[in-house]
Amino acid sequence: MLGKGSSRGRTPGTKRARATRGERTGQPNGAKESTDTDRDSPSALTRPNQPAIDVILGRPFRVLDDGFARVIDYMGDDAAIVQAARVSYGRGTKRVHDDRGLIRYLMRHWHTTPFEMCELKLHVRVPMDTWRQWIRHRTANVNEYSTRYSVAIDAAQRTAPDAWRLQAPGNRQGSAGRVASAVGQRLTESERRVQKQSRSVYEERLAAGVAREQARKDLPLSTYTEAYWKVDLHNLLHFLRLRMDPNAQEEIRAYANVIAEEIVAKWVPLTWEAFLDYRLNALQLSSIAAAIVNALSVPDRELACRIASEHGLLQSDSEGHLRPNRERTELEATLLKLGIDLPWR
Ligand SMILES: Cc1cc2nc3c(=O)[nH]c(=O)nc-3n(C[C@H](O)[C@H](O)[C@H](O)COP(=O)(O)OP(=O)(O)OC[C@H]3O[C@@H](n4cnc5c(N)ncnc54)[C@H](O)[C@@H]3O)c2cc1C
Repeated sequence: MLGKGSSRGRTPGTKRARATRGERTGQPNGAKESTDTDRDSPSALTRPNQPAIDVILGRPFRVLDDGFARVIDYMGDDAAIVQAARVSYGRGTKRVHDDRGLIRYLMRHWHTTPFEMCELKLHVRVPMDTWRQWIRHRTANVNEYSTRYSVAIDAAQRTAPDAWRLQAPGNRQGSAGRVASAVGQRLTESERRVQKQSRSVYEERLAAGVAREQARKDLPLSTYTEAYWKVDLHNLLHFLRLRMDPNAQEEIRAYANVIAEEIVAKWVPLTWEAFLDYRLNALQLSSIAAAIVNALSVPDRELACRIASEHGLLQSDSEGHLRPNRERTELEATLLKLGIDLPWR
């Protein structure tokens, strides 16, 4: 407990030490040291809450045909991020930055630890193949439904006849376009048959007394699982950046989009805005790309092509056609977003 005479909340150290510390943290100009932020006073605190999240606590947001994501608990809000940052930058930051400005500064400069002050605990229901991708994000805390302990959830993700995706020609990990509807109809029927068959084999094994841990071995990856997933905001944003990306698989993207739009955008609106501006919708230029853009701004298309060529982006086949090149394709997408015509076409 802190009494009236407590030194907590007072600025520790001498003026010189404070200035040095300010330099070390690279704080914005004019920031002065003081740790006594509004939430850091010796008086009793109330639990910070975000009304927009309180009203959706426990409410499942549907994803895919039978999945969901629901908020079980959360800690912190935009103000908690600001408070944590001001502990390192000092109250003086208030003069240079309002809360929004400070959050945007943190996001722009990859000062990420203040975002770790916020936590989100979700209850999710996800097909096992999607969960397999999800669980690769190691910086979360997880408890998953145990099919050793309990009977597997009797639900498998189904695919509508018009939702079968074709293999992408240029990206081995991706899909592009849809299977013709007559074929899709057939595939959906065979999917239903195989799911029904594997469930009945599973139940037959259980009925014969086979242990749940072994009986489950032929259940399909489409079987739904459930988990509690707790993650801090910094790592959640990292998850969202990777899994909202068009290169992520459609199913996990569906979860990422729901978590983003229904939960995170409401929970920490200032952080979400900064995340959209400086991460999700930001364009990244490699030094090669920057040199090409620079040449095009002169404009010197020949130089731009030479730079691209020197870096192996413009290799041709025997008929003079450009060979497929992933980095060039990504660069072309960036140039088009910038409204720049491709110099090599
Ligand atoms: C489009 C896409 C395709 C993918 N394809 C494949 C694939 O073909 N095969 C495959 O195996 N995976 C694949 N992955 C998974 C990917 O490689 C990552 O495992 C996954 O996205 C989790 O990312 P992460 O490690 O950054 O996240 P987290 O595990 O949450 O880690 C966050 C950050 O913490 C740090 N970190 C965490 N753990 C460690 C550690 N042990 N050592 C050092 N730093 C650590 C890293 O900086 C990391 O970026 C793919 C992911 C995406 C988005």
